[in-house]
Amino acid sequence: DVEVTGLHKSFGDLEVLKGIDLKVEPGEVVCIIGPSGSGKSTLLRCVNLLEEPSSGTVRVGGTELTDPDVDIDAARRRIGMVFQSFNLFPHLTALGNVTIAQRKVLKRDKDEAERIGRDNLKRVGLADKVDSYPAQLSGGQQQRVAIARALAMGPEVMLFDEPTSALDPELVGDVLAVMRKLAVDGMTMLVVTHEMSFAREVADRVVFMDGGVVVEQGPPSQVIANPSQERTRSFLARVL
Ligand code: ATP
Ligand code: MG
Repeated sequence: DVEVTGLHKSFGDLEVLKGIDLKVEPGEVVCIIGPSGSGKSTLLRCVNLLEEPSSGTVRVGGTELTDPDVDIDAARRRIGMVFQSFNLFPHLTALGNVTIAQRKVLKRDKDEAERIGRDNLKRVGLADKVDSYPAQLSGGQQQRVAIARALAMGPEVMLFDEPTSALDPELVGDVLAVMRKLAVDGMTMLVVTHEMSFAREVADRVVFMDGGVVVEQGPPSQVIANPSQERTRSFLARVL
């Protein structure tokens, strides 16, 4: 699980997160929606300490990441992250991309890393692409390699930051289908997305952020279909 408490983050004079409290229970899928600049990416980046919070705590699976004594590399290994840009190594095949961190970071031997890598490429529907290089794959296939790469590390939690927004529209569905399957399999997921139909159908809970605060949260039937806050209503009127 993930538990964020009283999280503040400033860049110089700019206060981007103004006290965020957020819990993701084991197996829960939480979607974060909100306007550009509201702090969604910064929140995700604070959850895996790509950004250092100005104050507040982040706990993942019982380990407090914000504890100065914690082994941050070990803690971060328990969190998988998928970004808008896939950032695959262009000179490595799909299998190479999903095995390199397993070998270098987890010290798995070649056979084990490749077995786990193949299993995860199969899981994202790319069993036939193990030997393809990124340039030979579509954007949607590259993003699925990036998801397989994160899964191969055996994370407790997966964070997604607009994983489909760089893709051509016809490729979005395949990536969302993989994420939907992960959700059904019980993965704990925190997903920043503009895909309202995904949020509506897959999220257990939707969090609407604006101006560095959580304005409203609840099941999609409430936050998307029947929001209680005016700010949520006007955002949804623009995106739906
Ligand atoms: P989008 O929907 O466009 O991705 P977002 O909700 O993810 O927006 P963030 O990327 O978290 O928004 O940015 C929130 C604010 O923090 C913005 O005003 C942004 O300019 C600022 N910001 C983010 N990262 C930094 C940084 N490293 N240094 C300075 N300001 C930053
Ligand atoms: Mg963002």
